[in-house]
Amino acid sequence: MVKLFIDPGHGGTDPGAVGNSLQEKNLTLQIAAAMQEILIEEYENIEIRLSRSGDETLSLSARTNAANRWDADYFVSIHINSGGGTGFESFIHSSAGRSTATYQDYLHEDILKESNFTNRGQKAANFHVLRETTMPAILTENGFIDTAADANKLKDSSFIEKLARGHVNGIARAFQLKRKQTIPNPSTLYKVQIGAFKERANAESLATEAKAKGLDSIVKQEDNLYKVQIGAFSSRENAEQLAEEAKNKGFNVYIS
Ligand SMILES: [Zn+2]
Repeated sequence: MVKLFIDPGHGGTDPGAVGNSLQEKNLTLQIAAAMQEILIEEYENIEIRLSRSGDETLSLSARTNAANRWDADYFVSIHINSGGGTGFESFIHSSAGRSTATYQDYLHEDILKESNFTNRGQKAANFHVLRETTMPAILTENGFIDTAADANKLKDSSFIEKLARGHVNGIARAFQLKRKQTIPNPSTLYKVQIGAFKERANAESLATEAKAKGLDSIVKQEDNLYKVQIGAFSSRENAEQLAEEAKNKGFNVYIS
């Protein structure tokens, strides 16, 4: 079993970089949630934890402590750049070992391939999350939020999906993950949702409420709406079971 720790950068009172009416903390969470969904649906023997699955404020040491305590096999920190450049770059720690460098080769190559971003290079740095993790770690900077061309890409949910897919492909190569024999077609998944909003903030607050009541929830952007999803299943029965649980907790539920 491969234990993957995904760290969506920033969150809560720390929006990260902002620009072009985007906030880094929301984009990093979208990419992380999409990675989690793809990995669970398509690959065997992978266990995933996220440092945060909602809009929470977390210190850097809370993130690295959680990964270290869990004894993760790999730590992937997702970020969006700013400062007026363009394209993709990735970082490992300056004193990282060989396997960390090899994993960086795979992720870097696959993310560029999926996203078509300009290559800004594979770099090394002394960042907290790279230094204080006891397992191989990478930090990815996925485009520039304050550069219109990059920001326009990041506004498109299918581009977020491509970035997620690039990360997943690299991780699958690094850890020789086996694909599931039967991959459910995403369009035939039964998605259990409890709300759809024009404003992201409304979706976030419902997601937070759901989590407080013990439901896993993610916010997904679809058809210009922010949807709060609490689960996705290939079996209708499982979807209905979760829907029932959410109804009992006072939510309006629909399965799509
Ligand atoms: Zn950042």
